[in-house]
Amino acid sequence: MKLIPLIQETLEFVRKRNPNEPEFLQAVTEVYESIQPAIQRDETYQDIRILESLAEPDRQVIFRVPWVDDKGNFQVNRGYRIQFNNALGPYKGGLRFHRSVNPSILKFLGFEQIFKNSLTTLPMGGAKGGSDFDPHGKSDKEVLHFCQSFMTELWRYIGSDTDVPAGDIGVGGREIGYLFGYYKRLTNEFTGVLTGKGLNWGGSLIRSEATGYGCVFFAQEMLATRSETIQGKVCTVSGSGNAAQYTVEKLNQLGAKAVTMSDSDGFIFDKDGISEEKLAWVMALKNVRRGRIKEYAEKFGANYFAGQRPWGIECDCAFPCATQNEISGEDAKTLIDNGCYLVSEAANMPSEPAAVDQFLTKKILFGPGKAANAGGVATSGLEMTQNSMRLPWTRDEVEKRLHHIMVTIHKNAFQTAAEYGHPGNLVVGANIAGFVKVADAMLDQGLV
Ligand code: NDP
Repeated sequence: MKLIPLIQETLEFVRKRNPNEPEFLQAVTEVYESIQPAIQRDETYQDIRILESLAEPDRQVIFRVPWVDDKGNFQVNRGYRIQFNNALGPYKGGLRFHRSVNPSILKFLGFEQIFKNSLTTLPMGGAKGGSDFDPHGKSDKEVLHFCQSFMTELWRYIGSDTDVPAGDIGVGGREIGYLFGYYKRLTNEFTGVLTGKGLNWGGSLIRSEATGYGCVFFAQEMLATRSETIQGKVCTVSGSGNAAQYTVEKLNQLGAKAVTMSDSDGFIFDKDGISEEKLAWVMALKNVRRGRIKEYAEKFGANYFAGQRPWGIECDCAFPCATQNEISGEDAKTLIDNGCYLVSEAANMPSEPAAVDQFLTKKILFGPGKAANAGGVATSGLEMTQNSMRLPWTRDEVEKRLHHIMVTIHKNAFQTAAEYGHPGNLVVGANIAGFVKVADAMLDQGLV
């Protein structure tokens, strides 16, 4: 698509303003290129200030996180909260603890979060935060001390009507518990300030499952457009954390066969499928013992490929559930050559631009992360609703609502793509549907 001068100028402006932030520029470029049909059609959006404002976070907080390790040594990490846009509701988005965390990665995630949250139909703005703290190999006590120090600063900027963080890579139930406990202590308030909470202290049923389940529901909707179902499909999955575990669980429940899982050291290939029993073992390995996926191969006699990703394994459907840019253009070609015709992204921006190009050119079913993985934040929104009502819903009720939201997101993206002349292109559909709602709200509110 040849870009109109307005988009070219805006991208140039964003590039100059944010040098050395490749992931952020990648995310802005993808969104702004794909919303061009909406900008061309409606002159309301041709005000350059809308695009410039959207690419500029409302607020970026960076802070020191000092803590003491088990050996008594003093450690310092860096903490962040990027409050990107609250046109649609309180800021909402996860916290990531990973050694790679930097402003570029958090800004890309916060920017994506704006459009994703818009698509969920729930009133939530976009944000992201975290730290370059690496939880791998840390004791529970070290993680506790780190989380308490992190919250000592973060509490000033968040609140149940202001900004409601959740988990992401490296931040699961344990970390949310430690963070919530310390927020409560600092403020003397028991409010829904975080989501992903424990079930007996304000959490929602299905929140842990939501990202993975939602991503599979989205795949079902994509397949339905070709009168197919997920039953019997061979699926490759990357990652072995929260998103991956519940993707595999839902695939099993629906009669599909997941054959791979991975971590940052390599992947396992189990041609017989990762059954419910084997998945329960993976959950204990990853969530309790905090071991490596390699141990699966030793336990169940599967193949292990050190230092590799699972995209060379033949499959019908692929579910990237680990991290950004984990599918290169070359990987995408291999997947397609091997017969894969559906990619549903549970991770955020897992496909490099060259990979997305191939999925779109070859017209395979492609669910971009901001639509396909929106079930996580949508169920966080449902947790906020239950906290406000002070009434929990049943498992069945929350799962039904999650399913309905994923069906609605797919329908919205699918119809919007067709309406703007790109039938089947859910990148265009999701980006335009998400953008229009946020841009309209910003205009209504005087572009603030
Ligand atoms: P977890 O920390 O639970 O799991 C992350 C998994 O990905 C681990 O297996 C981890 O391996 C692997 N991984 C992380 N970084 C890399 C890397 N650089 N290279 C290879 N493997 C890596 O995180 P989640 O499952 O929560 O998140 C996974 C993805 O899903 C992320 O992109 C996240 O933004 C996205 N997401 C998550 C949501 C949620 O509700 N949790 C909501 C929406 C999106 P290792 O242990 O070796 O690091």
